[in-house]
Amino acid sequence: MVHINNNFTKLSKSYLFSEIERKVGTFKAENPDKSIIRMGIGDVTLPLPNACIEAMHKAVDEMGSAATFRGYGPEQGYLFLRDKICEYDYKPYGVNITPDEVFVSDGAKSDTGNITDILGSECRVAVTDPVYPVYVDTNVMAGRTDIVYMPCTAENGFVPELPKENVDVIYLCYPNNPTGTSLKRSELKVFVDYAIEHKALILFDAAYEAYISNTDVPHSIYEIDGAERVAIEFRSYSKTAGFTGTRCSYTVVPKTCVGYAADGTPFPLNEIWNRRQCTKFNGTPYIIQRAAEAIYSDSGWEQVKQMTGYYKANAAVMRNALETKGYKGVYGGVDSPYVWLKTPDGMSSWSFFDYMLSEKGIVCTPGVGFGRSGEGYVRLTAFNTMENTIEAMNRL
Ligand code: PLP
Repeated sequence: MVHINNNFTKLSKSYLFSEIERKVGTFKAENPDKSIIRMGIGDVTLPLPNACIEAMHKAVDEMGSAATFRGYGPEQGYLFLRDKICEYDYKPYGVNITPDEVFVSDGAKSDTGNITDILGSECRVAVTDPVYPVYVDTNVMAGRTDIVYMPCTAENGFVPELPKENVDVIYLCYPNNPTGTSLKRSELKVFVDYAIEHKALILFDAAYEAYISNTDVPHSIYEIDGAERVAIEFRSYSKTAGFTGTRCSYTVVPKTCVGYAADGTPFPLNEIWNRRQCTKFNGTPYIIQRAAEAIYSDSGWEQVKQMTGYYKANAAVMRNALETKGYKGVYGGVDSPYVWLKTPDGMSSWSFFDYMLSEKGIVCTPGVGFGRSGEGYVRLTAFNTMENTIEAMNRL
């Protein structure tokens, strides 16, 4: 008899997006003439930058010729890409990351999930509430069900407080999905100092780094002194350059960052993650890595800035419109493509979702789907067209 990993039976049912689809489907069937604007989508809508397309075409041709064909690549990613990452994503912020600390991958979702492979089963894990569900579910799959939640609410300005109990691993996602809020340097430093003091590890998901506008918001956790000893950082090209369907990301594990064996001996996490990747991963496709490399060319950089600028302009339209219309409690949307909206009159997340759909033809995401502290909020995304974003705001 084959026994399943029993931890899977402990996962809470994820019905958020299927429930949204069910409700939208019913509404459409009952109101075939009404137009619906989707402000709930977490996927980008603009096509890939031209520089990336050109690089992929060229790489495809290389694959078609024996002289330039590439088979298995380095598990860590090609050096041509890792060099650029260090040069363009870190150096300008005064952060000295070397290519052997960068691991190119096929998504921040995979890496933030797979990282649990290198954590001891007894680690106590803390996450924010609301939270990107991958952090919780992958820990439950690994048998860690005793998760500490750090509420992020309007009352604490969406800045999580340090856990009261000792924790070993802290997941932070900034700029944040779903609240769209960010942490200032001084606020992030509190967590780095905690991790140093408690020999803990911060798993820092910076998937939305490209949306940062405020100068007091760090682009990398390694801008904070000492973070290179206690933090792993995840980056993604998905929301930066429209790679949601193309799949490329990277994870930085500094060589100074350590975890501890049962007897307290420090172990470089870089070595362990490298071992894990070499065992279970055979690298991101060459063609895709060439596309990612093209982001760092002059034209690619310009095109990517235009793309994120377009979504940021949508977010600004949403923020301004909601505030002008008198909505109290409009958060995020400055350093992020997400606006986190307090529902009016104390409505629950789902009641406001129903109201928005039936009365305005707008689809949002109920905040409670991201955790208990998300109740009474909805998430609106800036990934629709400018035209639809303006139309949605007019409907409100
Ligand atoms: N991390 C966060 C916080 C996200 O919101 C998302 C996607 O929505 C991801 C990671 C996934 O990124 P990727 O497409 O690189 O897997």
